[in-house]
Amino acid sequence: MDKPSRGPVYLSEAQIQERVAALAASITRDYAGKTPHFIAVLNGAFIFMADLIRRVELPLTLDFMAVSSYQGTESTGEVELIKDLSQPIGGRDVIIVEDIVDTGITLEYLLDYMHARKPASLRVAALLSKPSRRLRQVPVDYLGFEIENAYVYGYGLDRDQLERNLPYITSLPG
Ligand code: IMP
Repeated sequence: MDKPSRGPVYLSEAQIQERVAALAASITRDYAGKTPHFIAVLNGAFIFMADLIRRVELPLTLDFMAVSSYQGTESTGEVELIKDLSQPIGGRDVIIVEDIVDTGITLEYLLDYMHARKPASLRVAALLSKPSRRLRQVPVDYLGFEIENAYVYGYGLDRDQLERNLPYITSLPG
């Protein structure tokens, strides 16, 4: 198979790792004395989650959730649950781990879904945010990078389901 053409490095491995370490340090400070429960949103957030939690210096637990993909959800604002939580979150200090907040529709759904299950606290860590695309106002407590409106992939994010294994983030060649 031919190698797909890639855009320039948008965020390097070093830039990502430095920022992830800073977010983990903030979480470590903010959750001192607690045992946060991290919930990664599959598939895109799995690498961010893995790097983030390894830098958090606290006891912690984790879980995964999957919701419907980007394509087709934008117009209707409907989000479909594909994989539910495997552990209850009532009374726990939950941190949702997202790859990217684009329109905010997915995150709004996740926040409503979690709030209804009465966690002790609920915060959001997102690696990337495209504020210019926002249709729903959603809080992001720990944000890696604000980016412009471009389709990006690598470091867990896909380009037609490929390229999740790139250690850096690139964008579609323009
Ligand atoms: P939202 O509901 O519009 O905020 O979309 C969130 C989801 O869309 C993310 O969790 C990603 O899976 C996907 N997504 C949005 N923008 C991008 C991108 O630039 N690259 C890869 N996936 C994206």
